[in-house]
Amino acid sequence: MAPAARSLPILTPTPEGAQPRSRHLLGPLASATLTLLLLVPLQLMSPRPMLLAERFLPGAGWLELLALGGYAAWVANRLSQVRLISRTRRFVWGLFSLVFFGQLAAGLLGFERFLMSGALHLPVPAMIAAGPVFRGGGWFMPILLMVTVLLVGPAWCSHLCYIGALDSAMAHRQPGKHQQRLPRHSHWLRALALVLVVGSAVVLRGLGAETWVAAALGLAFGLVGVGVMLYASRRRGLMVHCLTFCPIGLLTVLAGKLAPFRLRIASSCDDCNACTYACRYNALHVEDVQRRRAGLSCTLCGDCLSYCRHRSLQYRFLGLSPDTARWLFVVLVSALHATFMGVARI
Ligand code: SF4
Ligand code: SF4
Ligand code: SF4
Repeated sequence: MAPAARSLPILTPTPEGAQPRSRHLLGPLASATLTLLLLVPLQLMSPRPMLLAERFLPGAGWLELLALGGYAAWVANRLSQVRLISRTRRFVWGLFSLVFFGQLAAGLLGFERFLMSGALHLPVPAMIAAGPVFRGGGWFMPILLMVTVLLVGPAWCSHLCYIGALDSAMAHRQPGKHQQRLPRHSHWLRALALVLVVGSAVVLRGLGAETWVAAALGLAFGLVGVGVMLYASRRRGLMVHCLTFCPIGLLTVLAGKLAPFRLRIASSCDDCNACTYACRYNALHVEDVQRRRAGLSCTLCGDCLSYCRHRSLQYRFLGLSPDTARWLFVVLVSALHATFMGVARI
């Protein structure tokens, strides 16, 4: 807990903390280019059209591809402006979730073209770990998760997961000043969930359980998670579901240590603790500020950056300058986000 920070009055992102919009054209351009580089091979080589427009009108996939490139540029431009980070990130993350679940709903209503393969899977992140263990195959999602984490660290859990956006929406229903911190050992709840989920998959596979039994258990797990969001995340103003219930969140922050991106606090910090209010991931306690680094649960969301008048909160990537590290992060995460927007569906 961080009692000292609770009395601080600073709750509004500080305009003074805005950083210069360096590389303001190059970033969006790079993000759009990267998005096209990721999507063109899919458009050319996938046996079944991956882009939705192509499924309705042959050739229209190219227009969608260009639109997604433009979208990536727009997102990158917004995320490169410190004062817009939090608003933009929450908006585009929510939009992604809406598009994802909208397509799932259409698929369930019988519009099969809105589904990835026509075979339904549970939209519960924990199944990324449990599904392949139970089936003994189908490692696409775990591999995608790991590749993404190697590129942008744990930002999967702040920009790219369709369920996390719902938890974020619930957490932000509480104003920042009313957040209630979680104790550090809450990490262990996610470790327990990981053991439970993967262990159950092993046992079910060993028992030769029917797929519907595993699916029903997975669905029940997902519904309990929704309850955690509605009750705990909304009340505490923190992403309690992601921080205590979802095992994939633990995997992303641990595997994220393999990626070079980090959030650090520079020596210019004057320990005002204003930034501790910004973090919905329980990663900026007073002790974290004193240690000059974010806690383990940091997902590189960037929400805290605008709270610092001294620009002391900085992204780091190997030997790059903080501005270049943030620039690179924004390019990568915007391109991945736009690509996911185009192709992620059940
Ligand atoms: S913790 Fe789980 S639900 Fe939350 S954003 Fe990460 S993968 Fe998604
Ligand atoms: S990084 Fe330091 S100076 Fe900046 S808001 Fe946080 S505590 Fe204050
Ligand atoms: S420390 Fe900053 S970047 Fe990390 S999760 Fe918290 S608000 Fe986001």
